[in-house]
Amino acid sequence: MATGTVIYKCSCGAYHPWKFDGDCRDKDNRYSSPEEYAEENNLDPDDIEVRAIDAEDGEVDDDEDDDDDDDDEGGEGD
Ligand SMILES: [Zn+2]
Repeated sequence: MATGTVIYKCSCGAYHPWKFDGDCRDKDNRYSSPEEYAEENNLDPDDIEVRAIDAEDGEVDDDEDDDDDDDDEGGEGD
């Protein structure tokens, strides 16, 4: 399994899972640190990737991987 877990630092000051798209006050989806996220989810902190959000230009982030790239799983970034 090469796929890392992606979380992001929110403007609310907490970390959320990358796919999280809900209320920042949702305690189940907010973490004070990547380490806490790892701990809560029984993950290795080294597998957590903190990504910046830069999609504030109204871009719809559909979750479909339908582009015709080759099937590398989680291979972005080294
Ligand atoms: Zn938030």
